[in-house]
Amino acid sequence: MRYEQAISILIKLVECRALLVTAVVSFRCRLDGSCCKKYWIPVIHLDLWRLYYYGGVADLEDYVTLVEGKGAEGTPKPLLFNGEYVYLALAWRDDACIFLASDGRCTVHPFKPLVCRFYPFVYHVRENGEVEIDVNEGAIGECPGLIMDDKPIDPEIVEYLKRLARARILELKLWDAFVEEWNERYGRSSSLSKLIELALERARRDFKELVSKNLWVK
Ligand code: SF4
Repeated sequence: MRYEQAISILIKLVECRALLVTAVVSFRCRLDGSCCKKYWIPVIHLDLWRLYYYGGVADLEDYVTLVEGKGAEGTPKPLLFNGEYVYLALAWRDDACIFLASDGRCTVHPFKPLVCRFYPFVYHVRENGEVEIDVNEGAIGECPGLIMDDKPIDPEIVEYLKRLARARILELKLWDAFVEEWNERYGRSSSLSKLIELALERARRDFKELVSKNLWVK
């Protein structure tokens, strides 16, 4: 099943088990959308906020779905939903992410979920807290923009992704706090509309706090 395949590949993407081939690759996104037909995209409340706040996507219920699963390393904390563990994810349409246009472009590119922005790279965190960027093993031979040519990863890409990784780590902690509250209050009797309503409510607060601390990534 496509979702199952996507789950395993995406987990590789986000769980930060990089191939450790640092500095042997060039990358230029070809904007062909192939990754958007392969991976499902887990989202957290702040990803929804970006779509809502910057993209004006008000009817979010039509753009997200729930994917069964629990606790794969590196994925966002799963929610309890009517007693089952699920991930909140972008919906699919015509065998691709719902935001993929027919010309292969992402229709929400400037405010797309953070997970999408890392591909075809991954981050991992060393024991000393340092963030490192590397190639996503699953993208080799799959991503047409990734060229294994023994050249260093562009330092600008590395710096951009490190900043993104630091934001992502922080946002995942905020998501954890939301999930704990949700699970306790609504985990046994849930509705998607309630989940989105509360996720946006929490996101609005977290967004303001992150902006005030200069830690927000658009
Ligand atoms: S949000 Fe955009 S980049 Fe991410 S999977 Fe969907 S179409 Fe692709």
